[in-house]
Amino acid sequence: MPLPKAELHLHIEGTLEPELAFELAARNGVTLPYADTDALREAYRFEDLQSFLDLYYELMAVLRTEQDFADLADAYLARAAAQGVRHAEIFFDPQAHLARGVAMGTVVEGLWRALGSSEARHGVSTRLIMCFLRDESAESALATLQAARPYLDRITGVGLDSAEVGHPPVKFREVYEAAAALGLRRVAHAGEEGPPEYITEALDVLGVERVDHGLRCMEDPALVERLVRERVPLTLCPLSNVRLRAVDTLADHPLPAMLDAGLLCTVNSDDPAYFGGYAGDNFAAVRETLHLGEDRLRELARNSFLASFLEDDEERRARYLAEVDAYEFGDAVS
Ligand SMILES: [Zn+2]
Repeated sequence: MPLPKAELHLHIEGTLEPELAFELAARNGVTLPYADTDALREAYRFEDLQSFLDLYYELMAVLRTEQDFADLADAYLARAAAQGVRHAEIFFDPQAHLARGVAMGTVVEGLWRALGSSEARHGVSTRLIMCFLRDESAESALATLQAARPYLDRITGVGLDSAEVGHPPVKFREVYEAAAALGLRRVAHAGEEGPPEYITEALDVLGVERVDHGLRCMEDPALVERLVRERVPLTLCPLSNVRLRAVDTLADHPLPAMLDAGLLCTVNSDDPAYFGGYAGDNFAAVRETLHLGEDRLRELARNSFLASFLEDDEERRARYLAEVDAYEFGDAVS
């Protein structure tokens, strides 16, 4: 039995496996420039951020209808459940779909078809977080928030993703203020490829409650001290960091040093279809390569529930934490 955990950094578009991509392409009459699933899987072995983003956006063309989004989310939830995920806070990128002529309602209601039945089907509770693409304009982010207004009962919070460098958090001050006024929770990617200053800015200017990635905080001892003092959760994605070269190898990952520093770290999969593994695979990889002991693994699992947006259901959070405390480690843990 896998270690119970929450996944807090997961882009639903990044869970599109080659088999489903071909199935949806056939359903929608979209021609993919790959001979078969093997050829597409080969393309998933990219070596840098740009080739990843090119493929990521190219494959989104197969997502057209509510049922496509439902099938995508349901496939993720089944895989996540099999790896011990009990609660998932799922990112989606509406601007990438709106730009292709797919309506906000198609995306949100489609995802909701799967999320709404996730507890019954997979035993996984869920939240939905709408991300803004930071390489798009602030005006586009505001228009996206406006387009989401009819669906806010489905959306727990907002996030900020895509290419970080050159797009500091301050660019999105206004849309984050508007999101806060609407009662939305706030997170943002910061300090992955961008500098530690972006983390400080995300906290001070955008008012984020969690920082996605954030590993470059380790370059600034005063910032580390602040993150520890304020108990700011960081959603780390170790296998993603290796594939996108944020670290040279997994053995170089700062996770052990970050835990030693007292940071509230969590382990997540980011874009698992592309980066070599789901949440449990990431846990297994850090256990093996970074030699994390059972206490550390249990701490990471506890952190994931402590950092999740379950303030509206503390009873559930307590139940999940009790599952982690009662967990007995075996050899095949992930
Ligand atoms: Zn991410």
